[in-house]
Amino acid sequence: MIDVIVVGGGPTGLTLACELRLHGVRVVVLERLTEPTGQSRGRGLHARSVELMDQRGLLDRFLAVSEKFQAGGLFGGIVKPWPDRLDTAHPYGLATPQPVTERLLEERARELGAEIRRGCEVTGLSQADEGDGVTVELADGTHLRSRYVVGCDGGRSTVRKRLGVGFPGEPAKVETLLGDMEVTEDPATVAAVVEEVRRTQLRFGAIPDVDGHEGVYRIIVPAEGVSEDRTSAPTLDEFTRRLRAVAGTDFGAHSPRWLSRFGDATRQAERYRVGRVLLAGDAAHIHPPTGGQGLNLGVQDAFNLGWKLAAAVAGWAPEGLLDSYHTERHPVGARVLDNTRAQITLLGTDPGATALRELFSKLMDFEEVNRYVTGMITAVEVRYDFGEGHELLGRRLRDVKLKRGRLYELMHGGRGLLLDRTGRLSVAGWADRVDHVVDVSEELDVPAVLLRPDGHVAWAGEDQGELLSRLPRWFGAAAA
Ligand SMILES: Cc1cc2nc3c(=O)[nH]c(=O)nc-3n(C[C@H](O)[C@H](O)[C@H](O)COP(=O)(O)OP(=O)(O)OC[C@H]3O[C@@H](n4cnc5c(N)ncnc54)[C@H](O)[C@@H]3O)c2cc1C
Repeated sequence: MIDVIVVGGGPTGLTLACELRLHGVRVVVLERLTEPTGQSRGRGLHARSVELMDQRGLLDRFLAVSEKFQAGGLFGGIVKPWPDRLDTAHPYGLATPQPVTERLLEERARELGAEIRRGCEVTGLSQADEGDGVTVELADGTHLRSRYVVGCDGGRSTVRKRLGVGFPGEPAKVETLLGDMEVTEDPATVAAVVEEVRRTQLRFGAIPDVDGHEGVYRIIVPAEGVSEDRTSAPTLDEFTRRLRAVAGTDFGAHSPRWLSRFGDATRQAERYRVGRVLLAGDAAHIHPPTGGQGLNLGVQDAFNLGWKLAAAVAGWAPEGLLDSYHTERHPVGARVLDNTRAQITLLGTDPGATALRELFSKLMDFEEVNRYVTGMITAVEVRYDFGEGHELLGRRLRDVKLKRGRLYELMHGGRGLLLDRTGRLSVAGWADRVDHVVDVSEELDVPAVLLRPDGHVAWAGEDQGELLSRLPRWFGAAAA
C-alpha cells in the first residue's frame, strides 16, 4: 500500500513529498493539473524558508536563479531599511517566482523518489471503518488507498470539504485583478502614474520586466466589486476598464500572459488533522497576500509535518507527535491571519487608515519595532510552546559556524541532531533517529542542543539525565 497520498502538487505538497522521501516513505502526489500554470503568485522566499532550503541542501539551487532582497518592514506596504541583528544567518529574502520554486521542489521530490501523478483530480475520500487506511476517489472513478492522506490542495481544498472541517473567518470584502502583460506606454510615464495613484491607492501597481521577462509588466488594480466566482479569470477588457477607472489610463495594455483575480478572504481550518487525514498550506489557511507570507507558511507547515508523519509511518512516533502538528502550526497560522488583517486595515484609503499608516510608519523607524515586524513576517521569530525551560526551547536555531563546517550542513538528511560541545553526552538508543555531533561553535553559548528534524530546539543543557528524559517526547522509545 502507498504510505502517504499528498493531494496537490503546489509548493506545500511538493515540500512535503521531499520531506517524506528523506525518510523512505512511499509517497504519491496527485495533482489535478496536467501542466504547471506558470502563474507567478508567490514572488519569493522569506528568511525562514531560505533557512529551510539551506537545512536540506537546496539553497544553492535557489540562489542560482534568484535575486536576494532586503526590504525591511514588509508590512502594510511600508518599506523601511532592513533591520540590524535579525536572528538569522540569512538576513535576506529571495525573489523567486512561484513557478521556479515549484520547479525546483518538483525536481528535488522526483530525485528523492516521489511519484508525482499529473492530471489526477481527487473528488472524494473515505476513512470510515478503514482502521489502517484512507481511500481516495479520483475524477475518473478509480480509487487509491494509502495509510495517510494530506490535503495540500489549496484554498478551495476538496479534502477539507470532504472531511467536513469548518473553515471559519471572513469572506472577501475587496477583490484585486492581477496579471502579466505588455503595454504601449513608455516606462517613465507608467512609473509616474503608478507613483501618483499609490499616494492614495496601495492596491495598485505595475512592476516592469516581471520575473526577468523584458517589456512585461505585472499589473495590479482593484476590481469593481467582489465576484461570486473567483475561479473565472478576468478578461483583458475588464482589466483595461479598471485601469482607466482607477488610473485614468490603461497604459495601452495588450498581449496578456495570464490574468487572475484574488480576494482578501481570511479563513483557517478548525482542525489540521482528522484521523489519518491532515491539511497543510492554503488548504488549512487563506489570507490576503500582503507581506508575501502564504507560500512560506505552507512550506513551513510541510517541514513541521513531514518528519512527524514519517515517524508515524515507520511506527516509532511517540504518543501525541502527529497531533503536535496542529498544536504547533494552528497558532502560527492564526498569527499570520491576524497580521494580514492588520495590514489590510493599514492599506485602507479612508482618513483613519491613512493616519494609522503614517503613525505605524513612524513607529517602524524604531529599530526594535522594525526588527519585531520583520521577524514576524519572515517567520524567524516563530517559537513553539514546548513548556518551561531554556530560552532557546521551541525556537528554531539560526545557522552557526562550527569548528568543522556549519550547523545547517549537518541537517540535510532531516534527522534529529544533538550538537554537543561537552563530548560527554550520548544518544545511544536513538542513534537510528538522532545524529550526535561533538563540535564547538563560538556563536552558540550553550553546552549542547537537541534539534528536531525541522530545526527547532527540543532541549538545551548539559545533563545526560535531562537529555534522556527529553528524547522520548520527540523521538519515541529507545531501541532495544
Ligand atoms: C496575488 C497573490 C500573490 C501572492 N504572493 C505571495 C508571496 O509573495 N509570497 C508568498 O509566500 N505567498 C504569496 N501568495 C500565496 C501563495 O501563492 C499561496 O499561499 C501558495 O500557492 C500556497 O501553496 P499550496 O501548495 O498550499 O497551494 P496551491 O499553490 O494552491 O497548490 C494547490 C495545488 O493543488 C492542486 N489541486 C487542487 N485541488 C485538487 C484536487 N482536488 N485534486 C488534485 N489536485 C488538486 C492545484 O492544482 C494546485 O496545484 C500569493 C497569492 C496571490 C493570490
